[in-house]
Amino acid sequence: MSTYEISEDEDTFEEALNSNQYISESSIMISSDDNSMDASNLKDSDSSDCEVNHPNVNLKKTRSAVIKRLFPFSTNKNNLKNDVNNGNVQKVAHMNPPKHVDDIKNAASVSKPFIPVEKTPGVNKMIGGVLVNMPVEPYGCQLALMSKVITAIKTSQNCLLESPTGTGKTLALLCSTLAWQRSEKNRIGQIQVESYFSDYPELKKMEGAANYIATPSKVSPEKKFERPVFGEKSIYDKPETNEVNSIGYGSKRQEPLREDSQDSPDSSLVTIHAKRQRLNSSEIGECSKSSPSVTPVISTPEKETNTGNPETPQHVRSLYSLVESLQLRTSMIVDCSVPTIYYGARTHKQIQQVIKEFKKTAYCGEAAMSILSSREYSCIREFDRSQWGNKNDMCRGCIKVKNSGDKSKGETNCAYYNNRTALNHRTLPPAFDLEDLVNAGVEKTACPYYAAKHMASNAHIVFCPYNYLIEPSIRSSMQIELENNIVIIDEAHNIEDICRDAASITFSRDDILAAIVELEKVSAHRYSNNDALFYIDQLLKTLKSWDYWFANHLQLLADKPVVNNEVVHTWQAEHFVQTLDNHSIGQKQFAGFQTSADTFCQRLRDDHRTLPGVTQATGTLVESILMGLGYLFRSSGKYLDDFTPALVKTVAMNSSYGAKHWRRSQYAQNVEKEKLELRLMCMNPAVIFEDLKVARCVVLASGTLTPLISLYSELATEFPLKVSPGHVIPKDRVWVGSLGSCSRGRELQCRSNDTSQPAVQDALADAILLVCRVTPNGVLCFVPSYKVMDSLVKRWTETGIWNELDQLKHVFTESRNVRDHNDVMDDYYKYAATTKGAILFAVFRGKVSEGMDFKDHQARAVVTIGIPYPNTYDMAVKAKLMYNDKYTKERGLLPRSDWLLVQAYRALNQAVGRCVRHRADWGAVLLIDARFRQPCYTKHLSGWVRNLLGNNHHTFNSLVNSPNSLESFMQYMKISESEKA
Ligand code: SF4
Repeated sequence: MSTYEISEDEDTFEEALNSNQYISESSIMISSDDNSMDASNLKDSDSSDCEVNHPNVNLKKTRSAVIKRLFPFSTNKNNLKNDVNNGNVQKVAHMNPPKHVDDIKNAASVSKPFIPVEKTPGVNKMIGGVLVNMPVEPYGCQLALMSKVITAIKTSQNCLLESPTGTGKTLALLCSTLAWQRSEKNRIGQIQVESYFSDYPELKKMEGAANYIATPSKVSPEKKFERPVFGEKSIYDKPETNEVNSIGYGSKRQEPLREDSQDSPDSSLVTIHAKRQRLNSSEIGECSKSSPSVTPVISTPEKETNTGNPETPQHVRSLYSLVESLQLRTSMIVDCSVPTIYYGARTHKQIQQVIKEFKKTAYCGEAAMSILSSREYSCIREFDRSQWGNKNDMCRGCIKVKNSGDKSKGETNCAYYNNRTALNHRTLPPAFDLEDLVNAGVEKTACPYYAAKHMASNAHIVFCPYNYLIEPSIRSSMQIELENNIVIIDEAHNIEDICRDAASITFSRDDILAAIVELEKVSAHRYSNNDALFYIDQLLKTLKSWDYWFANHLQLLADKPVVNNEVVHTWQAEHFVQTLDNHSIGQKQFAGFQTSADTFCQRLRDDHRTLPGVTQATGTLVESILMGLGYLFRSSGKYLDDFTPALVKTVAMNSSYGAKHWRRSQYAQNVEKEKLELRLMCMNPAVIFEDLKVARCVVLASGTLTPLISLYSELATEFPLKVSPGHVIPKDRVWVGSLGSCSRGRELQCRSNDTSQPAVQDALADAILLVCRVTPNGVLCFVPSYKVMDSLVKRWTETGIWNELDQLKHVFTESRNVRDHNDVMDDYYKYAATTKGAILFAVFRGKVSEGMDFKDHQARAVVTIGIPYPNTYDMAVKAKLMYNDKYTKERGLLPRSDWLLVQAYRALNQAVGRCVRHRADWGAVLLIDARFRQPCYTKHLSGWVRNLLGNNHHTFNSLVNSPNSLESFMQYMKISESEKA
């Protein structure tokens, strides 16, 4: 039964009503049983009886108020109540449509707008005044998540959601946001209808018109109202002229609206629609706690409707025409007003999973979607390496409008670009991932990159990697507008680092020299670049000054020690700015540089041919310098202190992580060439996060946000709503324990200095051998850093332990290199499925520990060694600690010890979360370090890990041969699995 239960709680109920949450009559039953009321705000709706024609509302205290509000046009409450109780309201509207003009005339009393809830599979829940449809009965933790998300959206507050993998977090996020969006559409539609009914009283003659206007429907008015026939002739014998009708109204954020825009009487709205300019909240009666009683009506332009004699077919036709026009108008107004949902995940693989979940929802098909990606992923034109440096350069070179032929057609050299509109919401399935999009592009010879970008401007929900939402330059190039929209950042546990990275820049002297060579070549072609000469010369001058700057500061590194393969000199930001001033690249010259750089970058984007030989790398370099200095000089140096500039000579650097990675030294590996770099490191993630505050609400979600304390101060943002439900996996399927002593009874401490001790390394070997002996299939073992991993491998190889391990499991180590990493992972997954199984040694904060899935046999045990505090010798970490020390009191930042602790436990919790990925999964977590015996070291573990750990602390001997040992858990699970099989 599709039902809405209204809470006994007056506040909740009032809030739903005041916010104009539309409640369908069709699904309302007014109960006479006062005791049937449930006071909870989270209500079950028994979906098994989901019948549109069986309304159900339970009322206790406010029946008359409800009737009045829900049925404002009713004059006979008793009759209405009887109709509703008998389930007749829907039948009145749909089973007895007007058959002729008299029916239309006599139907004047049915002027109340109502929106039917179509029967959808799944389970309906009333959560926070919004009806949410879930594909399956939700877990308790999903209800808790959805409640918070809906409250966040309704009250425009930010929200933190921590929910372990396997708890259905993604589905809960999608269903709650899309349900709210649907309810908001209905609410705005209803307001529109009310205004039309006062502007066009003759609409009251059409039964069901209100519903049709308010609810975008794929049913044509002909079918909706049934087909009145006058004699031999149908009123629809007149040919249809409105193309939109034949397309259907289900996708009003779509291209057809543009196609019609020339002739449509609503062309002004079409323009608004295309630009996605939303109406002011005051115009649509914003649904928020701050203005609960505002229900203004959108004004509609005067429209002359010559309805003529109501007894004539012309009159009927005229009315239907009016209804169609108003529905189109309503649909566009709704689309312009309802916030877009931006759903950001870490990788495209994760987005693919999210879209899989989206497909399961009842909102798929109703909510238009798009997926944003880079050209690297979605360009389908053959890449000519001999001609282009990368796909961006190729694209920019190819999509210039041809000089030959008909310019008005905008033909370019890329046939896929010319045909890009062939990919749209009508030609694509209701849900598609990047692979589907690219395949469809190939099939239709249409560019997926530009098609997706265009579709995003009209979509209800846009999926993208989360850095598209966070990094200002990508946001701008992808035309992502966050203002008043809903932003979800999934896997947001590294949000602080991501924001810091987004504002940090790094460039080398080599980059500067390469750019100088390119620009000098362009400058030499003076005959063809007259108009470009000025800004090219300006840029050249600036870049040469940067080269001098590098040369003049090299001596600062002369006496510095080499730490982590780097020699570093850092400045205070104001002193650094002075060095720039001394080289004529400081604040005084910044405005001129900005103009040249902007013009250059624009030219590179728009007319690449006028800058022959200039690569994207030069464009990126100029943009980087512009962004970095822009932050330093912005708002009279407001952010100056938030940056730590460093000159770095590196003889070893990371090649598997991006050049901007904030914690690069952890991943450092040997490369041959020495490099001299400037790093402008942002210490304050709030610099970037501030831009996100224009959103209606920001939801940060992850399996691991704990500890939460740093998020508020680091992001300088309030998160009034937070929820951290437990795991859904039965307790007997997960074992969590700690190991605090080695085989000889000695305490096993795993601080950074300890792990290099041979005795500790041997004790760790004993423990890991034991785990491998008792655990079937896959085992993951996380170590603090590559350095420690290398040291362990060296020791174990020398002592023969490595061979022993190899007898028990296939042994793998995480690769620093991306290409090798994929090969290693393929092999690990393959061998973990075998009887012998496999063990993978990986590092905290590495690729394996964050975002990778190890379900079922892929990880039956996760072993962690130590507590992964950041490396305080790392230059960036050192600078961050000094920054926090400086602003602990002034800005409420965490003291250094707390900040280190937060970083350590977030990484630890992430690694632990690799195990046990869904409800039917099972596995064990072994935390190796004697410190976990003390509560102060366990209180920052994720809630579910902490609860399961309890006092399950072990010695080496008690890991086997004790009642709650790892061995007994594994035996129990093996038996229960074989019984199940
Ligand atoms: S328009 Fe599309 S297909 Fe053509 S080069 Fe650009 S990204 Fe590639």
